[in-house]
Amino acid sequence: MRTVDAHAPTISIRERYHNVVADRWPVTVMPQPEELLSSWLHRLAYANGVPPKAFVRVLGLNPGMWSAALDLKLPADIANLLYTKTGVAPDQLAVMTLSRDLPGQLLLPLRCNGHRDGSAWLQFCSRCLAEDAQPYFRRRWRLATRVSCTQHGCRLRDRCPSCNGRITVFDQAGLVPQHYCVACGYDLRRAPVPYISPATRALDRCIDNICSLEAIGRSPLGAALIRRLLNMPSAAGGYYKTMMLSSLSTAARTYCAERLTSPSEWPVDYATDDEKDRKEHRLRRLIPPTNDHSAWTELLANALGRRRGRPMVSERNESGIELLDLLGAYARTSPGPGRRLVQELIGT
Ligand SMILES: [Zn+2]
Ligand SMILES: [Zn+2]
Repeated sequence: MRTVDAHAPTISIRERYHNVVADRWPVTVMPQPEELLSSWLHRLAYANGVPPKAFVRVLGLNPGMWSAALDLKLPADIANLLYTKTGVAPDQLAVMTLSRDLPGQLLLPLRCNGHRDGSAWLQFCSRCLAEDAQPYFRRRWRLATRVSCTQHGCRLRDRCPSCNGRITVFDQAGLVPQHYCVACGYDLRRAPVPYISPATRALDRCIDNICSLEAIGRSPLGAALIRRLLNMPSAAGGYYKTMMLSSLSTAARTYCAERLTSPSEWPVDYATDDEKDRKEHRLRRLIPPTNDHSAWTELLANALGRRRGRPMVSERNESGIELLDLLGAYARTSPGPGRRLVQELIGT
C-alpha cells in the first residue's frame, strides 16, 4: 500500500506527525495469518525495492541466514527499528517469531548437513503459495513434525523440484518475489504435489494439534512426547532408523510416518466380531475427552513408543493402544472432513 497519493487533497500536517511518517519506509506490508517473521521481512524488502541480501545491511546485521535467525530470536533494537519504519508493533512482530508456543526441539535446524535426505530449514505447500495474493511462508512449516498442509492436506516440500536446492530467500540478490527459487528461478507455486497417505496425514494432524497446545510444555509427559517424536525414525524402523526426525528431509520424514501408519507394518488382525466389540469398548474407555490435552499427550507418547517394546510412559496405557487405533479414536473426537476421511481409510 503506497502512502503517497498524487490526487489527495493538501493537508497541513503537524510537525510531530510529519516526523513520524518521514521515518517510515515507503511501502508497508501487513503480516499475513500465521506468517513467519522472515517471510514478512523478505516481502517487506522486496516491496521497498531492496533485495533480501542487501536488506540485511539496512538492519545492520551480518549476512547469511539473517532472517531465519531473527525467526528464532528478535532482538529488541531490531523490533524497535522495524516498528519505527513500518508501524507494525513489537507484539505483532513477536507473534511471527518461533519463540512463543512451538516446542523448540521440534524445529528444523538451520544448519544443513548437505545429505540428499538431510533436513532443510523450511518447507512449503505449493498450493498455499499459489492461492496467496502475496505468497508467504507459514510458521508451522518450520516444524520437523509437519509433513502435510493443514489446509490442503497435501504433502509439504522442502526443496525446489527443479534444482533440488533448499529455500534461500535470505540470499536473494535480485529483486524477485520469495516464491521463486533463488538458485534456478523456478516458480515454487508450480511445484507438483507429492503423494501422502490419508493415515499419515491423520498422524500429522493429530501430532500438530497436540503439539500446538501450550499443554505440551506444562504436561509432565510433554518432554517424553517430544523425545518419542524425535525418535519416530527408530520406531518406524527401515532406512532411517538411526536418525533423528529433525535431521531428515520432508520426504524421509514422510517415509517414516508412512511406515508407522501403514496397516501392513502391523500384525494382521484376525479378530472375531466379539473381539472387535471388546476392543471398541476398551478404546471408548481409554480415550480421553478432546479437551484433556495431558491425557492425549500421554496416549500419543505411549503409542509412538510401542513398536520397539519400550516401557510405557505411564500406567494409564498399560493395556496399550496402537497408533492406528489412537488415530481412529482421535479422528472420531475431531469434527470436519478430516474425521470422515480417516474413518473411511482406517476403518474405524
Ligand atoms: Zn496448503
Ligand atoms: Zn531451484
